[in-house]
Parts: sequence; structure tokens; C-alpha cells
Amino acid sequence: MRIHRGGPAVAGLALCLGALTACGGSSGPSAGDPATPPAAPTTDSARTPASAKDDAAPLDGKVVVIDPGHNGGNADHPSEINKQVKIGNGSKACDTTGTETKAGYAEHAFTWDVSKRLAKLLRARGAKVTLTREDDKSVGPCITERAAVGNELKADAAISIHADGAAASGHGFHIIEPISIGRNADMVSGSTKLGKALRDAYHEGTGIPYSNYLGKNAIDRRDDLGGLNMSKVPKVFIECGNMQNKSDAAKLSSSSFRQRIADSLAKGFETYLS
Ligand SMILES: [Zn+2]
Repeated sequence: MRIHRGGPAVAGLALCLGALTACGGSSGPSAGDPATPPAAPTTDSARTPASAKDDAAPLDGKVVVIDPGHNGGNADHPSEINKQVKIGNGSKACDTTGTETKAGYAEHAFTWDVSKRLAKLLRARGAKVTLTREDDKSVGPCITERAAVGNELKADAAISIHADGAAASGHGFHIIEPISIGRNADMVSGSTKLGKALRDAYHEGTGIPYSNYLGKNAIDRRDDLGGLNMSKVPKVFIECGNMQNKSDAAKLSSSSFRQRIADSLAKGFETYLS
């Protein structure tokens, strides 16, 4: 089921939600050893080459917003998540419950876990990372609010992380890129580049094949997703695999494989942002 096709929309919105998802960032350079005698004046050429700093924090100052699809409290609050919101070219439900594997591993738990792993990796590279929700037991936020987080932070890149609920015979991953609906015209080009970088890194890093049921070479394009229609910054969705497919579900349910997924996505962001 592709219930998360549902869309977004609500006004207003919160940035840097809560301490857990506070805008991260690398720690600054450590102070020198106080026991070290004062150093003689150095010339510029004696200083640490800029390249050394760049190697340590290649994404220094870059702003990334990660949207973990759905939320653990959605299923128990149908009236709240079914509320219609405007997505630029129509209306959609505020949010959806997502899918789950046959064994009961929920998509919202998967997206939350991968998002936390990815945030940690990107922060270690110097990026300022914000998640669109602060736990996996709340409701929403609406898809429009998720998009607004990236807009208000003027993010350099944003991603919405999902896993699909397609027919069991379908397997593999795909990226969803935006189609311009006018209001998001300026972010389509960047989103296309981001999508390719993430597609290549994910394919190489995880070994998960391109989707055999949607898109071309693992790239699909849509204009019915509030998270893309309402975004002003480069953004794509990824369906990391099909939770209804036995082979994909086994991978998505493995914590070590989820780390591999996060590692791969981090490399894709580094390619796009560097
Ligand atoms: Zn989803």
C-alpha cells in the first residue's frame, strides 16, 4: 500500500524541534594544551592547511533536514492525521500511518531509526542537521509542516525517508523527485542532482537493486506529494525498499543493514553538498 502518498499541508511550523533534534553541528576546534609553552608567531604557511580542516568536516556549515516518514502515534489519531491540508495543486491528508513488514516491523520505526543514524553521520561531517519530528511516538507533523522545516531553515538539502508497501512481488528501492507545480520550480533542478547523488550512493552502498515496479533506473517523478510540492529547497523522497517483499523486508529489518543504509545516504549527501 502506498498510503504515504498522502499529502501535507498545514500552516505554521516549528523549527529545530526539541533538544533531541536540535540543529546540530560539529564541535569547534579544541583549545590548545594549556601546558604547552606559548608558540612563536607563525606565518600563514605554517598553519594547518585548509584541506586538513575540510577533510575533517567536509560538510561544515551545510544545513540538512531529514524527514522520518510517518510517526508512531499516527494510527491512534485518525482524525488528526486525516485532516486535509493544501499541497499547492490540491489537498491531501495531513499524514498517514505508513506500512509494515509481515512480521510487524513498522515503517515509522524504520524511518526513525535510519534518520537518527544518518543525522549522526552528517553531523560528524560538520553539517547542521534537523529532523522534522522529535520522537517516534507522537502524531504527525502534517506533510506541509515537514516541508516548512526545510524552508524556514533554508536547508541546502532535504530528504524524506520511507519504505514502500507495494505488492509483494515488487522489490528494490527508488528515489522520488519533484515535478514543478510552479511554486516549487526553483528547487527542481537541485532536487534532480540530489536524487542522482543519493540514487548512486544508495545503490552502490547497499546493493539493493533498482525498483522493478516503479520509476526508471530507480528514479520516479511526482507532483502529488506535499513534501515535494511545498518545498522551496532541494528535496527528494527515498523508498528504501518494499516492506511487503520478503527479501527487502529482511534487509530493512536488520539494524546492521540500516547502518549501511545510513552510511550510503551520508555519502550521497557528501557528493551533492561538497
Ligand atoms: Zn511512507
